[in-house]
Amino acid sequence: MIKIENLYVSVEEKEILKGISLEVKPGELHVIMGRNGSGKSTLANVLAGKDKYKVTNGSIKFNGENLLDMLPENRARAGLFLSFQYPVAIPGVNNMYFLKAAVNAVRKSRGEEEIDAVDFLSMIREKLKMVDLDESFIHRPVNDGFSGGEKKRNEILQMITLEPKLSILDETDSGLDIDALKIVAKGVNDFRSPDRSFILITHYQRILNYMKPDFVHILMNGKIVKSGTMELAKEVEKKGYSWIEEEVAEAA
Ligand code: ADP
Ligand code: MG
Repeated sequence: MIKIENLYVSVEEKEILKGISLEVKPGELHVIMGRNGSGKSTLANVLAGKDKYKVTNGSIKFNGENLLDMLPENRARAGLFLSFQYPVAIPGVNNMYFLKAAVNAVRKSRGEEEIDAVDFLSMIREKLKMVDLDESFIHRPVNDGFSGGEKKRNEILQMITLEPKLSILDETDSGLDIDALKIVAKGVNDFRSPDRSFILITHYQRILNYMKPDFVHILMNGKIVKSGTMELAKEVEKKGYSWIEEEVAEAA
């Protein structure tokens, strides 16, 4: 699905990512954990193609294609989706038109017919139920006046509507109460399939009580310093990150 090799990224002359390698295969869910400032969102933003992030070394292959040569919109058309850590409100843009336009842009690029308003509405009604939002949310401007939890559920709504191949969720679990957290986790779990992959970025182990990752990676100072399974996430929950820091310092 995606293969990142020796990735170095700078923002405004400051080196943030310092040699990241990560391969995610179809069907896999990888978790990236790390303290604030370790570079998690930078990695997510580079994958989505946000400007200002300069790749100074390394490569990223997405389904065999060179991702770094692709415009952000073409990455989305090819099946990459990023759920933002801080979803922005777009006053004046109706949530349903926004989603419908996005879905049709993806369909068009696959040579499929555009979906009309009636079919879209019946499809979106089903999806709204899955994230426990009522219909009023798609008739409001995108994220405008949504609570934190509603914004995150709206991100999951986008994901399950766009049906990406690779979903990158940047702290979609942060700031959620337990009910919203369960809805987000269920949204991801129900959407998992052998041909869909996920990179879940978080700094809490909490959401992992509700989903089963295949791999857990610890990001520290722009590097993946340790990889493991769910056991590693549990260890971090119990002992924090400092023991890993000590290991890294000893190895250096
Ligand atoms: P995380 O998501 O793990 O908390 P980030 O990737 O957001 O970490 O940030 C990593 C480091 O990169 C931080 O020191 C942050 O200040 C810096 N950084 C990220 N984006 C920018 C930017 N657009 N301009 C300047 N510095 C940035
Ligand atoms: Mg972040």
